[in-house]
Amino acid sequence: MVATPIGNLEDISPRALHSLAHADAIAAEDTRVTARLLAHYRLQGNLMAVHGHNEQRAADSIVEHLARGKTVALVTDAGTPAISDPGATVVKKARAAGFRVVPIPGPNAAVTALSAAGIADGPFLFAGFLPAKPGLRRKALERLGTLPYTLVFYEAPHRVVECAEDMSTELGPERVLVIARELTKVFEQIHRCVLGEAAAWLREDTHRQRGEFVLIAEGIAARSEGTKLDWERVLTTLLAELPLAHAVKLACKLTGAKKNAVYARALQLARAATARRS
Ligand code: SAM
Repeated sequence: MVATPIGNLEDISPRALHSLAHADAIAAEDTRVTARLLAHYRLQGNLMAVHGHNEQRAADSIVEHLARGKTVALVTDAGTPAISDPGATVVKKARAAGFRVVPIPGPNAAVTALSAAGIADGPFLFAGFLPAKPGLRRKALERLGTLPYTLVFYEAPHRVVECAEDMSTELGPERVLVIARELTKVFEQIHRCVLGEAAAWLREDTHRQRGEFVLIAEGIAARSEGTKLDWERVLTTLLAELPLAHAVKLACKLTGAKKNAVYARALQLARAATARRS
């Protein structure tokens, strides 16, 4: 399983090149794309096609090659095979038949975007492509939006604006979004904004809607923790100046926090203050 560049052809490891140069066959998602990569490095390869539609059949043919003692390098058009790309079926069948599968690591658009997103290095969820149909996409976002992880998506250029709009509706307009476009290519762009501003930013210049996209949305954990800290700080400040009921009412109004939680915390703080005084 050989990772190949996601744009800049220089982003390929010596080990990947060695493997492509010495494999008995190269199974490629699109043989024309891989032929260009091989030509760039003056390599020749015995190419065979393995795309999404023929993966089962291609997997059988690869296993036959392996059974004859041949080595097969599997590549996709860009990035790491089997990540939103063909490859998993081939791996499954090859392993089931007892052959060794060797991953040769390299570029991956999601990880490349994450490395430059400036989002805290907590857990992240790679969601791949969202459904193309708006109803299904919104449902998927609604479900993902409750999870405490940074969310990483791939998106096609003709859907990126509507996807940003749906994200803002389903995940909330205040969450941070990083739009990573054309990574490692000439027009690479990494833009950070809040979801509520993302669609307008994309619309402002049609160039911003072109190319390949990774979208990274801040997870809910960071946001709700921030909200909790905010209302507690506001409440503490108000309690020092105002009667309890008034402080609770204002803290809820200012932060949007739930009254029950704020009231319970206010009682705790008031009791603690009384205990300190007595
Ligand atoms: N296997 C690949 C990987 O490891 O990243 C992903 C293949 S998937 C079919 C292609 C999608 O990955 C694109 O539609 C885009 O969302 C994302 N992608 C690939 N190359 C990219 C790049 N240079 N910049 C931004 N996103 C990219």
